[in-house]
Amino acid sequence: MFKERLLTPGPTTIPMEVLQAMNVPMLHHRSDVFKRELRRACEGMRWLLGWDSAPIFLACSGTGALEAAIINTCRPTDTIISVNGGAFGARWGKIAQRLGVSVHEIQVEWGSAVTTDQVREALATHPNARAFCIQHSETSTTVLHPVEEALRLVKGICPLMLTIVDGISSCATTPMPGDSSILDIYVAGSQKALMLPPGLSVMALSGYAWELVEKTPKRSLYFDLALERRALVGGETSWTPATTLIVGLNAAVEIFRREGLDATYARHKLLSKMTIAGLHALGCTVMAPQAPCPSVTGFFAPEGIEADALRAQIRSSFGIRLAGGQGPFKGKVVRVGHMGYVDPFDVIAAISAIGSTLKRQGQRVDPGAAVVAALNEVEG
Ligand SMILES: *Cc1c(COP(=O)(O)O)cnc(C)c1O
Repeated sequence: MFKERLLTPGPTTIPMEVLQAMNVPMLHHRSDVFKRELRRACEGMRWLLGWDSAPIFLACSGTGALEAAIINTCRPTDTIISVNGGAFGARWGKIAQRLGVSVHEIQVEWGSAVTTDQVREALATHPNARAFCIQHSETSTTVLHPVEEALRLVKGICPLMLTIVDGISSCATTPMPGDSSILDIYVAGSQKALMLPPGLSVMALSGYAWELVEKTPKRSLYFDLALERRALVGGETSWTPATTLIVGLNAAVEIFRREGLDATYARHKLLSKMTIAGLHALGCTVMAPQAPCPSVTGFFAPEGIEADALRAQIRSSFGIRLAGGQGPFKGKVVRVGHMGYVDPFDVIAAISAIGSTLKRQGQRVDPGAAVVAALNEVEG
């Protein structure tokens, strides 16, 4: 028997407390009991995001909310600037293309973070773009983009440009990249560090974003954010919401409140440092050494080792599920998710399993030394 350990960058492990909170008879979404849960979820997410207005809840995975952000603010005659440094960065362009919105992509090499020079150059060539879109953590390359710096630059040079941030894999792992003075639309998703099943997205909008939403001709009924905002005033959502996940979110927020947000962020940073230290001790090349994100760490399989075979072996020998690569990194990398309900000993389990599997596959590595290297990152 193994304890199944889901160390993937979504979906993630759900704490027992959250599972139990969701294990209740079905609530009706127009009942007073559910309205109370929804109001609590609004307050909880406002606290978690440090946001001044009520967030919007959509019953869809994160990609749906990214699409909602674009469709509610961009007309077919508009252009967006998007940072494309990985599989998720490429998604802005795919969404915009289907909506007839033009895209100027800032091409960032996989594994690197966008630079302020690149952002400045895009703003100079497309000063009238409707929106600037970026990931906070680019999960596919494990990069944390310098988003706050980029947003300040955008607002400093083009104050009317909307800023849209995909915080799906960074929410609750690292501080928000600014408040509503520089950040207009922020998107989070349930199955990442929020420790919930997939199917719920949360969006936070600035006053300026709401102005644009109200002005932009409507092209989607399901994703009409103006309708959602009006429904929320009455304590409801327009359509049937993900009721069970909203109840679960309230339990998850309780856990974050108990831990304290600064401690949550510090824990994620520690897990990232432990994973990197352990991988370095195993002689592995880490994917994004200059700008590692606190939610996931990846490494290139050593010469002569198949990344996907390594993952399969780790799964069958130790019950630990790790993620593979996407795009150009397919079959070449292994990614260790450490977001949400993950603690230092989960990382120790991953490092031991990677080390001992590499050793069994003929690599000259010392798994014990890697464990010690990871533990050395834990202070006190
Ligand atoms: C997981 C993820 C998404 C959303 O993917 P879904 O499959 O729609 O949940 C979007 N952006 C980033 C950065 C992600 O990590």
